[in-house]
Amino acid sequence: MQITFWGVRGSYPVPGAATVRYGGQTSCVEARSAGGDCLIVDAGTGMRALGNKLVREANAPMHHHVLLSHVHWDHIQGLPFFSPAYVPGTKISVYALLTAADELHQVIGGITRHEFFPMPLEAVPAQFEFHQVEPGVDFTLGAFHITPIALNHPFGSVGYRIDCDGSSWAYVSDTAPFTEVLHKQHFLSGVEQLSDDDRVALAAMREALVRRLAGVDTVVYDTHFLPDEYARFPHYGHSTPDQALEICAEAKVRRLVLYHHAPSHGDEQMDRIAADYLGKGAAVGIDVLTSFEGMTLPIGDEGTLI
Ligand SMILES: [Zn+2]
Ligand SMILES: [Zn+2]
Repeated sequence: MQITFWGVRGSYPVPGAATVRYGGQTSCVEARSAGGDCLIVDAGTGMRALGNKLVREANAPMHHHVLLSHVHWDHIQGLPFFSPAYVPGTKISVYALLTAADELHQVIGGITRHEFFPMPLEAVPAQFEFHQVEPGVDFTLGAFHITPIALNHPFGSVGYRIDCDGSSWAYVSDTAPFTEVLHKQHFLSGVEQLSDDDRVALAAMREALVRRLAGVDTVVYDTHFLPDEYARFPHYGHSTPDQALEICAEAKVRRLVLYHHAPSHGDEQMDRIAADYLGKGAAVGIDVLTSFEGMTLPIGDEGTLI
């Protein structure tokens, strides 16, 4: 299995001179099994270039599977621009954590309403279907065995552990650390006191994440903030590389990939972050890589950067 990063930014796209090397497109990762099965995780603006590649490669209409962490803009904005959606005979199955598959249909349908987009979802040639996922309830898509994991993010988010070809990786984005309640279905200002029930729920969420990540080869983690930025925005729903390292060390994973980079972090700052956390990871026995657009990473064994 290998994974390819088509978009590594959080929040909004920032293509331009400052982001030439790490890239400016938002969240999208492609997983490929050794047998050629494809799985798409998140549908940010990076998905547009992936779609173009998939159409070029296809000999016939395909059935694509798209796992969504949640439906914030930076994780769905590529979907209306995904070229296979305009190839008749294509089927696109979308999986997400929502209260009902119908609601997911409404959300995705909503971003293609005529006020926002020239072609409504019902008129798109591809056939879309929507599936609800539940944390801890695993399922199989082709060669991939998938376990959804609850994360701490405004209105909820879900990570995925993906096992395939005798190895595994996990996608953990978006999530805050487990010290503030962000996953409830309403906005918290951050000044509310945690109740005992909140503390229990957060501890259980963290424990389940560590348990699901146990022994995973490669973890792709939301490391949007540096520690000083997190201190200023603790309720934005994102983590620091230090917090990701702490979780990965407890779960004894081999490799952490920094991901969902802040839009304000240009190439030079990203170089410094990459070097800093390579060293901090080595100190706790974890190989830390910093994702960039176009990076392909073999999963398992002693896979090295292509
Ligand atoms: Zn995001
Ligand atoms: Zn988000």
